[in-house]
Amino acid sequence: METFTVEAVVLRTDDFGDANRVVTLFTKEFGKLEANAYGCRRARSPLSGATQMFNHISAEIVHGSKVDTIREADILNFYDGLTKNLERLAYASFFFEIVNRMTFPRQKEIETFRLLKKSLPALNNRNPKIAALIGACQFMETSGVQLNFSRCVRCGTEIFGDAAISLLDGGALCMNCVDAANDARPYPEALRKTFETMLGFDWRDETKLFFNSKQILAAENFFVDYVQFVLGSALKSVQFIKSLKSLPNK
Ligand SMILES: [Zn+2]
Repeated sequence: METFTVEAVVLRTDDFGDANRVVTLFTKEFGKLEANAYGCRRARSPLSGATQMFNHISAEIVHGSKVDTIREADILNFYDGLTKNLERLAYASFFFEIVNRMTFPRQKEIETFRLLKKSLPALNNRNPKIAALIGACQFMETSGVQLNFSRCVRCGTEIFGDAAISLLDGGALCMNCVDAANDARPYPEALRKTFETMLGFDWRDETKLFFNSKQILAAENFFVDYVQFVLGSALKSVQFIKSLKSLPNK
């Protein structure tokens, strides 16, 4: 049987049977792929540590006729802040769920792999909501989704000042084109500048992340609406985030 080695970020895990797990990896080599990790939920399994969500790993995979199987896996980096803090966990899950649901298996997307890898230290240490929104913003521009934040999706004109944005059209609309769209909503200049700052954000930049909280909320609402519109169903992580906001002392 064919065996291959991948460098990957663990995008999602689903338990099945007594001790097994389906692990969704976003690999550098092949894009997204699923592989079964048998026995990995037993404490003594050599796979138990590596096959946790948000880990950056290298894995040896056996290609089977029906399913692929993880034979060995080593942790390259892990981020324990994500499992110790519910807000971090919720926003990291939000970003990872967007990537998981908006990508197709076995389509190599090296930019998406790099983005996931670069975002993890920020999700682990910095403002997790802002880090997740920057991740979503950069993913939408670099992946096949290609949302247009700065130019009119209908005529290509660069947007100045306040304009409109459409989920159906997938991006900004200039004031000449706004009447042609069926679902135009306001797109204030401040929100466009927020998206543009997020798009240009360099993950190695360690200066404090500063965004206006009103624009962060608008950006969050936009991504939630956009993803749910494209997918036609709700994101589980959004429910998780809402449940945290309704907790006392929050
Ligand atoms: Zn236009």
